[in-house]
Amino acid sequence: MSESVENRFLRYVKIDTQSQDDVEKVPSTDKQFTLANMLVEELKAIGLEDVDVDKHCYVMATLPASPGFEKKPVVGFIAHMDTSPEAPGGANPVVWKDYNGKELKLPKEDIVISPNENPELKNYVGQTIITSDGTSLLGADNKAGVAEIMTALELMVKDPTIKHGKIRIAFTPDEEVGKGTEFFDVDRFGAKFAYTIDGGELGEVENETFNAATAICKFKGYNVHPGYAKNKMRNSIRAAGYFITLLPEDMAPETTEGWEGYLHPNNFKGAVEETTIKVLIRDFKNEGMEEKKKELEAIKGRVNERYQDIDINLEIKESYKNMKIILDKHPHVMDMAFEACRRAGIEPKLRNIRGGTDGARLCFMGVPTPNIFAGGINFHGKKEFIPVQSMEKTVEVIIELAKLVSER
Ligand SMILES: [Zn+2]
Repeated sequence: MSESVENRFLRYVKIDTQSQDDVEKVPSTDKQFTLANMLVEELKAIGLEDVDVDKHCYVMATLPASPGFEKKPVVGFIAHMDTSPEAPGGANPVVWKDYNGKELKLPKEDIVISPNENPELKNYVGQTIITSDGTSLLGADNKAGVAEIMTALELMVKDPTIKHGKIRIAFTPDEEVGKGTEFFDVDRFGAKFAYTIDGGELGEVENETFNAATAICKFKGYNVHPGYAKNKMRNSIRAAGYFITLLPEDMAPETTEGWEGYLHPNNFKGAVEETTIKVLIRDFKNEGMEEKKKELEAIKGRVNERYQDIDINLEIKESYKNMKIILDKHPHVMDMAFEACRRAGIEPKLRNIRGGTDGARLCFMGVPTPNIFAGGINFHGKKEFIPVQSMEKTVEVIIELAKLVSER
């Protein structure tokens, strides 16, 4: 008997693997090794080869090809083990069997997942839904992906009628803090192309990510005792606050959707002497990125005019690029993703990712890697939930993908 994807998922989400921002080392938190080491043991127990975890917490493993299929291209499946720093990790999962279509009132805190706020809930009436108890996020992002890949591997090992080429697996740390591929050894991975199992709702297949950069804006002032501050103190917090008010409100994550980009101030740290703001810059098009960078420069100019005695330094760091540029050069990778969904009885929905994935960076490191649904909804918050039946479909899609590669 193979372990069900539901059971695996319930085991993995209990382990706290929250990553942390602004940490130099990878993994950013040692606790990610708890899950990594556990997965190593489970991969070995299932019968995979070359199973190991390196010092940066990257787990890799090989499912050898079925006899006679050794020459087929090597395909990779990837999921990340960490959960977002935006909500507490380590869930006490709650299983809602035979979902009745009404509000889900999480038991531990006054949190309600309602069909008004989440109309997609109506698609899952009668299914089994998993949530957290309200004290943490659920961690379906991305432990659903981990559980789905593990389940698919076990099913493929136990059923020799499923023919496949060599398959490589990677479970990565620190995706949520933008470092999931920092120490990803593409040569060691050795896949010609891969799929991250890190998407949202049932059927979603994603081939576009944002272009992403971060603006780091430093304001330098001068501090003296407020009792003697007249004409002496220069308060960097005031200049930084003014900067924030000038960011266009119709260009924010909370006011945009679909193909619109945004400027998102997501961190503000300061004292009189020095204040630092971080602003995320996101757009699907290169021109859009350039416009937004110019906008920030213009805002900096306006703040400079008003606070002439505050030193302002604006630095822009590139994070990742839209992966479509690469995927368009390898159309079969997307074609197979669509075909695998159809074989699993799902009509694929092509989506863009208003964010990044490990795959976006991997595309530019030589491994074309689109993103496939893992089934979860409301990522990064306490209202995160996942229908079990969606996870089961993802398992099917992974197996169909493996078969398709062997048919090529
Ligand atoms: Zn994710």
